[in-house]
Amino acid sequence: MLLEKLKNIVGEKGWITDPASLEPFLSEWRDSYHGQTAIMLMPQSTEEVSAVVRACVAVGTAIVPQGGNTGLCGGAIPDASGKQVLLSLSRMNRIRALSPSDYSIVAEAGCILADVQAAAAGIDRLFPLSLAAEGSCQIGGNLSTNAGGTNVLRYGTAREQVLGLEVVLANGDIWDGLRMLRKDNCGYDIKQLFIGAEGTLGIITAASLRLFPCPENLQTALIAVADAQAAVDLFAMLRARLSDRMQAFELIPDRAMRYVLKYIADTRCPFPDASPWYVLLEYSAGAAQQTLADELVPVLESGLAHDIVLAKNSSEQQQMWRLRHSISEAQKREGASLKHDVSVPVGEVGHFIAAAESAVLRSFPGARVVAFGHVGDGNVHFNVSQPKDDSAGAFLERRDAMASIVYDVVERFGGSISAEHGIGVLKRGALIQYRSQVEVAVMRAIKAALDPDNLMNPGKVL
Ligand SMILES: Cc1cc2nc3c(=O)[nH]c(=O)nc-3n(C[C@H](O)[C@H](O)[C@H](O)COP(=O)(O)OP(=O)(O)OC[C@H]3O[C@@H](n4cnc5c(N)ncnc54)[C@H](O)[C@@H]3O)c2cc1C
Repeated sequence: MLLEKLKNIVGEKGWITDPASLEPFLSEWRDSYHGQTAIMLMPQSTEEVSAVVRACVAVGTAIVPQGGNTGLCGGAIPDASGKQVLLSLSRMNRIRALSPSDYSIVAEAGCILADVQAAAAGIDRLFPLSLAAEGSCQIGGNLSTNAGGTNVLRYGTAREQVLGLEVVLANGDIWDGLRMLRKDNCGYDIKQLFIGAEGTLGIITAASLRLFPCPENLQTALIAVADAQAAVDLFAMLRARLSDRMQAFELIPDRAMRYVLKYIADTRCPFPDASPWYVLLEYSAGAAQQTLADELVPVLESGLAHDIVLAKNSSEQQQMWRLRHSISEAQKREGASLKHDVSVPVGEVGHFIAAAESAVLRSFPGARVVAFGHVGDGNVHFNVSQPKDDSAGAFLERRDAMASIVYDVVERFGGSISAEHGIGVLKRGALIQYRSQVEVAVMRAIKAALDPDNLMNPGKVL
C-alpha cells in the first residue's frame, strides 16, 4: 500500500525496487556497510520530497536520504531490516540561479559537486569546496556532512559556504530559507542545524551558496622540515606573511613519501636527500609583486626549513600535488591500515602526532604511523599501517582498541574525533563517549524537537 502510494508520488522513473539495481546503493565505497530496502525513491522536486515524507510519516516508516553515497561512515545506508525507505536526491540536480554580481549560486541538493564548481567557473567565479570524491558526491551530501577537503584553510568548510537552505522537515513541511544574505540576524540560525546533521533532522533539497573570485597566479612549493612541530611554527610564520592568500599547507611524513615513491608510478621527490617531514604549500600571488620565492627567503633564514623546491610550471605543481594525493592509495598497497580523521588546535598538531604515535606504539609495537593532512586546519589523518610481519586480520580486529588510544590523546589535546566525514554509524559510540553529557543532551533535545517520531535517518549520529 505504502509502496504504491510512493511510486505514484514520484512517477514512473522515480523509483527502483529490483534488488540487482538497488545493490550499488546499499553498500558504500569502502564496502564496510550493507543495508536492505524495498524501494529507492528518486523525487524530482521539493514538493515530491515533501509528499514522500508525509506518506512515510503517516505510517511510521523511516527515511534514509542518500546523495552520491561517497560518505565513509555508514550514514547513507539503510539498516538491515528492509523497512526503511531510501531517498536519493540524484534527480534534483538543477542549478536554479547563478549570479556573478551577487557572488552566489542556488543549487539543488542532488547537484554533483564538480558540476557546481563548473557552473561557478562558467561565470568566472570559484566555488571553493573541493575533495577527491567531487565527481560523484552531491552538494546535499556535502552540506549534510559539513565536508572539508583541500581548500578549508582559505575558504572554510562546507558550512561556511552556505547562505541559505531549503529543507523538507520531518513532518513534510517545506522550510524555504533560500536567502542570499551575507548579514541576517533574526534569531536562531536554523540552517546551521541541518548542516552536518547527516539527514537526521530533515532533508536538504536546495542551497544558496557563496562564490569567490577565482584565485590567480597559483604558486606551489615543497618544503623540507625536521619535524611536524617545525611545520606548525612555519605555518604560523607564513600565515603572517602570506595572509589569506595561502591556499594550502599540507603535511607529509617521510614514511608516506616513501610509500608513494615505492607504489605510485611516475612519482619523484624533488629533493636529493630524504627529509623526516615535508610541507606542501600553495599560494595565490594574484597581482602581487612579491613571488613565493621572495616570501620564502626568510623561511630558510629562520632555520625552520632546511630545503625548499618551487614548482616552475603547472606540470611540476601537479607532480607535487600527486605526491600528496597518492598517500592513501600508496598506504593501502603497504597492507592493512586503521584510519582516524581527527582535529586538534592548529598549534598542537606536532605535539599531538608525537603523543599519539607513542601511545599507539606502546600497545601496537611495530605498527607504522602515517600522520598527514591539512596542518592549516589542524586536521590530521592519523593512519596506522599494520606491523610488517603481523596478519592483516589480527591487526584490523583491534580497530576499536586503536581508536580508543588515538581518541583519548585527541581528547587530551582538546580536539575532535571527527574532523571530516561526520559520525554516521561508525563513530556513534565515540560521539557519546567524547562529548559531554550536556552537549549530547542538547543534541538529543534538538533531534526530539525536529523529528519527534525518529523517522529521519534513525540510528545515525545519535
Ligand atoms: C575518495 C574519497 C575522498 C573523500 N575526501 C573527503 C574529504 O577530503 N573531505 C571530506 O569531508 N569528505 C571526504 N570524503 C567523504 C565524502 O565524500 C563526503 O562526506 C561527502 O560530503 C559525502 O557526500 P555524498 O553526496 O556522497 O553523501 P552521502 O554519502 O550520500 O551521504 C552522507 C550523509 O548525508 C546524508 N545526506 C545526503 N544527502 C542529503 C540531503 N540532501 N539531505 C539530508 N541528508 C543528506 C546521508 O543520509 C548521509 O548521512 C571522501 C570520500 C571519498 C570516497
